[in-house]
Amino acid sequence: MINVAIDGPAGAGKSTIAKAVAAKLGYIYVDTGALYRTVALSAARKGILDDTDKIIEMLGDIEVKLGFADDGTQCVYLNGEEVSSFIRTPEISMGASKVSAIPEVRDFLLDLQRNIARENNVIMDGRDIATVVLPHANPKIFLTATAECRAKRRYKELLEKGESVRYEDVLADVNQRDYQDSHREIAPLKPTDVSIMADTSDLELEESVEMVINIIKESMQ
Ligand code: C5P
Repeated sequence: MINVAIDGPAGAGKSTIAKAVAAKLGYIYVDTGALYRTVALSAARKGILDDTDKIIEMLGDIEVKLGFADDGTQCVYLNGEEVSSFIRTPEISMGASKVSAIPEVRDFLLDLQRNIARENNVIMDGRDIATVVLPHANPKIFLTATAECRAKRRYKELLEKGESVRYEDVLADVNQRDYQDSHREIAPLKPTDVSIMADTSDLELEESVEMVINIIKESMQ
C-alpha cells in the first residue's frame, strides 16, 4: 500500500492540499485531526475538558470511527453519531490540542489510524504521522507556512462559515496551538530526519497541490 505522511502545524493547508492530492491520485485522504477533535467534542459535551483523569476514564466508554463516502469524503462518528459538523469550532480546536497531549488519548487512536493505512493507499495528515503512526510512510512531507499566513487563511475560512471572529484572536490561537503541539512531551510536532520540507506561504492552492504531487512522484522513482 502507498502511505504518504503529511505533517505540519495548524493552518498550513494540509487538509485542503492533501484532499486535492488524494482525489487526483485516487488515494484515501485521512484527516487524523478529526479524531482528536472528536475526543475533545465528547469531553466538551460532558464538561470535562479540563480534567485529564476524567478524559482518560471517558475513553473506556466511547467509540470513535472514521467512514469514507464514495467520493472519498471523510466522516467521523462518536458512538455511532455522525459528528463531522460539530468539530470545527475554535473551542474544539483548542480542546483537541489539549486532549492530544494525553498519552492515553494518543494510544486510543493509534490502531484506528494504522489499520486504515494497512488496507488502503492513503495520504494521512496530522502531527505525528511520520514520527509515530506510520514510520514507514514514503514520502514524509512536512508542510509549513508562516504563522501570520496560516492565521489569515483560518480567519477567512471561519468568516466564510459565518463565525464571528477577530483576526488577532485567530493568530493568538494559531501561536498557542503551535506552541502546545510542538512542546508537548509525547509525539511533539516535528519533522523527521528524512522529511521533505514544503513551505506553502507564497503559493496558491494549485501550486501547493502540484508541489506535493511532484514530491510523491519523485519519491516513487
Ligand atoms: O489538524 P487539526 O487542526 O484538525 O488538529 C487538531 C489538533 O489535534 C491539533 O492542534 C493537534 O493538537 C492534534 N493532533 C495531533 N496529532 C495528529 C493530528 C492532530 O496531536 N495526528
